[in-house]
Amino acid sequence: MKYIITIILSIAVVLSACLVTHEFDTACGLLAASVSASGNSNVPRTPADDFTYNVIKELSSAPYMGRLPGTLGNKMAVSFISERYKELGLKQPPGYNSYLQTFQQQLIVQNSATVLVTRRKTGEVTGEYNHLSDYIGLPLWPNTKIQGLIDAPLVSITDLKQLSPNNRELYGKVLLISSELVHSLPYDHLQADGIVNKLLSLGSRIKGSIINFDNRRDGYFHVSKSMKRLFRGSKKYNNKNGQVFLYCSDAAYPYLKEAAEREDNVYISVDFSLEECYSSNVIGVIEGTDRSNQDHIIIAAHLDHIGDNKDETYNPGALDNASGIAGLLEIARTLLNKTELPQKDIIFIATNGEEEYFAGSNYYVGHPILPLKNATMINLDMIGAKGAEYLEVCYPGNNSVELSKQIASDGLEIGINTRSSYILSSDHVTFSVCGVPAVMLKHLQPVQRHHTMQDSFEITMDINKLQEAIDLVVYYIEQTAY
Ligand SMILES: [Zn+2]
Repeated sequence: MKYIITIILSIAVVLSACLVTHEFDTACGLLAASVSASGNSNVPRTPADDFTYNVIKELSSAPYMGRLPGTLGNKMAVSFISERYKELGLKQPPGYNSYLQTFQQQLIVQNSATVLVTRRKTGEVTGEYNHLSDYIGLPLWPNTKIQGLIDAPLVSITDLKQLSPNNRELYGKVLLISSELVHSLPYDHLQADGIVNKLLSLGSRIKGSIINFDNRRDGYFHVSKSMKRLFRGSKKYNNKNGQVFLYCSDAAYPYLKEAAEREDNVYISVDFSLEECYSSNVIGVIEGTDRSNQDHIIIAAHLDHIGDNKDETYNPGALDNASGIAGLLEIARTLLNKTELPQKDIIFIATNGEEEYFAGSNYYVGHPILPLKNATMINLDMIGAKGAEYLEVCYPGNNSVELSKQIASDGLEIGINTRSSYILSSDHVTFSVCGVPAVMLKHLQPVQRHHTMQDSFEITMDINKLQEAIDLVVYYIEQTAY
């Protein structure tokens, strides 16, 4: 998942994205219970710790390949969660098979890694750049070229005045856009939208742009394949005559600038495609003892992530969001181990397609198993981040402020450093837009590494912080559902 990404909501239009990368791990599969989490090796392990630890290690391991919808890894994650639900003894919603709620979604797939090379007119290579550490290919904007090759002169642009549709010097070229220019127009910390919109206005007379927008996290670009929602399904999405967009790092920019000054050509290969696939949410229930009014609490966490990078690295998504799934399963386990059942139903939803505009939660709110007017929703997304100071209880809109404050104050009551925050970018937004009081529990990372190949258990996770989020949800349920 993304960090505090500013997102614009219009009617039911919600945006999201979370992407990541990681080197293939040779050790995969469920780890032995004796293994302890890094950073906490002096903390005595308990069976509860090991349950969550094993879930995160499993879902972030190489066979799952970053759990991209439509891939075997995503299906394996769905099966893994479905099997855990069965073992725990969660009930299936009526008419369900293996706890699955299946739907169709769109997504951007990377078929091969983007390539960036500069060379002299004679063909001699002058610069070969590294995928994800020097640059990243961006399939994010409508009417851009997301598949194909470009071999064209590189020209350096440092003044906005150069970007005129009448400037014939740009025709047929790839533009190298300085960081000063990016920052002279509106942008957020993840996307250089202002400059991209300006470039798009030039049309397909220019071949593309390499934009010095360095949103790397600890050395690696934030991987994003979330197209603009408003253009989903548009035939104009992949325009073979459109422009190509790349971001380059601050370190790579001076070399590219030299290449432009030498009047080198730049060779770029991009290979993304817009695909459709079937995905499944995994839904299990603890039935309450008083079901007369259908009041229920939904505990949700997204199971999907952003897949691999086609360069022998993948995005493990340990914190984003194997952590949330581990939390969800542990909450279910804790409640089912109690001697008493809650009065209200507790519905557990492992959502899919969250990284593609909350596809799974959008499907669920159109096909809920109990009326949404009786629901309260708690979303777990990136819990247990190493080094986080607060557990954020995030509200996405006015209808959820009270719930957020309640849970944050519950946290303080049981000695957890919580605070109520306004943060969007996950499935709680979908529910809030439908009138459901909905919050997300999240730990903010001091150094953001989600949507990079570095989001592994060892680098991003703190099992004790994860347990805090679990304890808080269990406490809230004890206070309100028993
Ligand atoms: Zn996430």
